[in-house]
This record gives sequence, structure tokens and C-alpha cells, in this order.
Amino acid sequence: DVDLHFTGSTRVLTVSNQKGGVGKTTTAVNIASALASFGAKVLVIDLDPQGNASTALGVPHNAETASIYDVLIDDVPLADVVQSSPESETLFCAPSTIHLAGAEIELVSQVAREHRLRRALDQYVADNPVDFVIIDCPPSLGLLTINAFTAASEVFIPIQCEYYALEGLSQLLGSIQMIQKHLNPGLHLSTILLTMYDGRTRLAQQVADEVRNHFPEQVLSTVIPRSVRVSEAPSFGQTVIAYDGNSAGAIAYREAAVEIASKSQTTQSKEN
Ligand code: ADP
Ligand code: MG
Repeated sequence: DVDLHFTGSTRVLTVSNQKGGVGKTTTAVNIASALASFGAKVLVIDLDPQGNASTALGVPHNAETASIYDVLIDDVPLADVVQSSPESETLFCAPSTIHLAGAEIELVSQVAREHRLRRALDQYVADNPVDFVIIDCPPSLGLLTINAFTAASEVFIPIQCEYYALEGLSQLLGSIQMIQKHLNPGLHLSTILLTMYDGRTRLAQQVADEVRNHFPEQVLSTVIPRSVRVSEAPSFGQTVIAYDGNSAGAIAYREAAVEIASKSQTTQSKEN
């Protein structure tokens, strides 16, 4: 049994990696659902125009749905677009719609373009205290991801245990440093999760060892196995936690969520 205590302060994690297909969305929704299953109040912000996180959480996100686009571009309060996920009473999602595809360009001419998500989130959290905010980023380092980095205090990187896993990581770390310097001094890389792990291959083990050597503090002990159940779940509008809670993938994501929740609360730098 899991006995976790949530302190009432909000941890904001952004799930980022400029590579596509590494398990960002899968990780964001499954960690969120697992945390909610332990009683945490969790808000997922879908910042990817593809809207896969919204789909996996069973939240409508057609072109007419009020979405994170309206928050970023038209100053709509975040509370007006947040929906409940049918998966848990404590799980919420700010959906993305296809309109978000244009936001990357529309943001360029906006006032305080790097801070728009953070401002909306600060206002939301003041009225709706949540334990975790988990932001699902698109596979790029553009203004949407910069908004996530500016709103978050923790960067959470999923790494796929395959060829070239570390490729592009230095670029990502460089972006985080730049954000620390210019926009959000409190941002730090808190968590790395190895995903789609196939223990039968030597390559997966080598990649895992290499990542652990580079980031001994950040890599979670839990690894997420490659599992068909994990990849099937979204087509049922569910996370694997709800779709098949006893599957290896669900068990691993719950264990990873326990590790994340148990990590000593890292100081939020929200004073500035
Ligand atoms: P990203 O958001 O980084 O683009 P996704 O989370 O969408 O990556 O994952 C990419 C693909 O890999 C999806 O089809 C997803 O279902 C699949 N996938 C992710 N994690 C696993 C896993 N542990 N086992 C099997 N398939 C997975
Ligand atoms: Mg994704």
C-alpha cells in the first residue's frame, strides 16, 4: 500500500524532450493518473497541438473546445478551460486543440510572451490549490516549451532506451541553463525516467547505465518496460493506470510516481 502525504504546496513539472516519440505524453498522463490514484490533486496541461495527452485523459478537445490556446493567446483564465478527467476525481486537464499549432507563431508578437502560461497558472493555483501540475510539451524548443520552462520549477525528461538516446540532450540542457539565466532561476532538472525499456537487449542496459552515470541524482530507480498495454490505452481514451492497472506498465508508472512524490519537496522559487 502506498502512504503518501501531500503538503499543500504545488510542484510544477514540465515533461520535456525535443525528440518526438520518446514517451513524453505517455509519461505525463500516466504519472499524473498514478499520482491522482494516490489521492493527489493533479492538473495536466496539454501544450502539444496534437492533443494526445487530452485524448489519453478522456477529455474532449475538438476545434470548438475552450483550450490552452485561448489561455495563451486570448487571456482566458485557465480555470475556464480546465476539465475533469473521467479517470479520477482528483485529475484535471487543460486540453489542447488544433488551434495551438498556430500559437508558436502568434505568441511571437504577444506581450510577455514567455510568461503567459506562468501568469495563468499562478492565478489558477491561487484559487484551485493542486499538488502537482504536469505539463506535456511538444517536441521542440519553441515558445510553447519556453512557456512551460518559465512556469515550472522542475524539468522531467523521459529517455527512451534506444540508439541515440543521449543525442540532443546537451541542447536540451543548454536551453534549461538559458532559461535559468534569463527567465526562471528556480528551474532545474529534477527527474529522468527511462522508458520503453527492453531488458533483454544489451543496448537498453548500456543506455540505462550511461544515463545513470551522467545523472546519478536525477534518474529514477524505476524503469518503464516496453509494453503493448501502455501503447493500447490511449485508443480507449485512458491511461494504462485505468486501462489495465495490473499490467507491468501500470505497476511501473505507479512506482515511478511514488518515487517522484517521495522526493523531498524542492524549493519553489516563485518569489520573483
Ligand atoms: P512523445 O510524447 O515523446 O512523442 P509518446 O508518449 O507519444 O511520445 O510515445 C510515442 C509512442 O510510443 C506512442 O505510440 C506510445 O503509445 C508508445 N509508447 C510509449 N511508452 C511506451 C511503452 N512503455 N511501451 C510501449 N509503447 C510505448
Ligand atoms: Mg507527445
